[in-house]
Amino acid sequence: MQIADTHIAEDVIERLAAGHKMKQGELESIAAHFLNCEHCQQRYEEWEEFVTVFRSVIVRIDY
Ligand SMILES: [Zn+2]
Repeated sequence: MQIADTHIAEDVIERLAAGHKMKQGELESIAAHFLNCEHCQQRYEEWEEFVTVFRSVIVRIDY
C-alpha cells in the first residue's frame, strides 16, 4: 500500500467541506487519500464542523 507523502491541501479540504464542485480526477485522488489517511479525515471533519457553524452564523446575519 502506498500513501502519498503529501497530505491533501488545506484549500482543497476547505472546498470539499464547503460543498464546492471538484474535478472527477481530483475527487478520486482525494477519496483514495482519505481512505488511507486518518489525519486528513480528521481535518475534513473539523472543516465540515466549521462550515456548518459558519453557515448557521451567516443565516442569522441580516444583509
Ligand atoms: Zn493525509
